[in-house]
Amino acid sequence: MLLHNLKDSSEQVSFVQAVKTGLGRNQGVFFPDSLAPLTNVDELLEMDFVTRSSHILKHLIGDELTAEQVSGLVERAFNFDLELVEVEKNIYCLELFHGPTLAFKDFGGRFMAECLAEFSQGNKTTILTATSGDTGAAVAHAFYKKDNIDVVILYPKGKISLAQQKLFTTLGENIHCYAVDGSFDDCQAMVKAAFLDDEIKQRLGLNSANSINISRLLAQVCYYFEALARLPQAQRAKAHISVPSGNFGNVCAAMIGAVIGLPVAKLSATTNQNDTVPRFLASKDWSPTDTKESLSNAMDVSRPNNWPRVQHMLDNNWFSYENFYSNAVDEAKTEEVMLQLYNKGYLAEPHTAIAYEGLTRDLATDGVGVFLATAHPAKFKESVERILDVELAMPKPLADALAKTCLAEDLANDYHVLREALLVKLA
Ligand SMILES: *Cc1c(COP(=O)(O)O)cnc(C)c1O
Repeated sequence: MLLHNLKDSSEQVSFVQAVKTGLGRNQGVFFPDSLAPLTNVDELLEMDFVTRSSHILKHLIGDELTAEQVSGLVERAFNFDLELVEVEKNIYCLELFHGPTLAFKDFGGRFMAECLAEFSQGNKTTILTATSGDTGAAVAHAFYKKDNIDVVILYPKGKISLAQQKLFTTLGENIHCYAVDGSFDDCQAMVKAAFLDDEIKQRLGLNSANSINISRLLAQVCYYFEALARLPQAQRAKAHISVPSGNFGNVCAAMIGAVIGLPVAKLSATTNQNDTVPRFLASKDWSPTDTKESLSNAMDVSRPNNWPRVQHMLDNNWFSYENFYSNAVDEAKTEEVMLQLYNKGYLAEPHTAIAYEGLTRDLATDGVGVFLATAHPAKFKESVERILDVELAMPKPLADALAKTCLAEDLANDYHVLREALLVKLA
């Protein structure tokens, strides 16, 4: 698989290089030069999830990895379930929160971890990442107890929910967590500083596990095939998929799926009040505003890193602008839709409710809708209980994590302090 930097087309890399590098020159993201269609989609849709996913990823990655290597990665990464639930006539919910950290990020995070472990070939590797919530947990669980790999996670102290935090700060072993006296942006700035520090980079074998890594996107393509595989054959070609979107990685994966032959009629990338993309589509003017805090905090992104990839496919007509929708859902509407869904018998957290609302706004009368549930309701216990006036039971992984002690160390918002700590602990 050949990829190029969307900001500098002279930078070309292989899949393995793209996974190891993460981000290209000038902060440009990598994207495949071309996406060849699958020739056996009907046959693939008859296969089980893991077998089919291995075929799809081998097709996308090409000759760089053997079929055995790819199926090994897939079997180790995708070792948990997903569900397609009928919520009302012709509207289905694809539940992606049955993994170890109860959010869809387990799919991409686990596959990326398997790739990095395979490609680092036993060399000492340190994964350094900043998290605003769900990514930290997915990455930590994915690398937990992997040989020769240490994970360092920075998070803004007191600014993520207790459930989100305890899912990664209680692991110990090779997972090292720092509660930074600052914001998520401060954490990201320290990560960037470390990557510009050659001594640290070399002595620790520094590697990123950030949200723009191409391996995460490719992994996410697989569950869209599973969603359609579970629909009756006659409904597949009319399917309209709605993805709750923040950084636009998940909807980018859906679009890659459509480009290689998944029969989807329409895609909706629905946002919360952070509506840079909906405004851009309406006005052709890219004007991010300050990020606003929302009930759906994993989508509080005003400069979505993956948008250039989506726009690349749209501008090149790989997927038609006509079949792509992006609307914003405000806070009041999010609460209203959570209640509406609850009254239909489906309990959804805020991100999922936004996907449902985006779907029903644009679903054709003869269309078949699939909206994504990206997190377990218990991960957003406080807002779900308040809005729906219910009491939620804690699923086992969360109850277990909440009962354990937080092992994170406090850290000043100062790169030099982090640098010293890393050298003492890991060099
Ligand atoms: C990360 C996240 C999203 C947004 O996904 P993107 O790929 O960034 O668009 C939506 N819902 C939940 C629960 C998330 O954790």
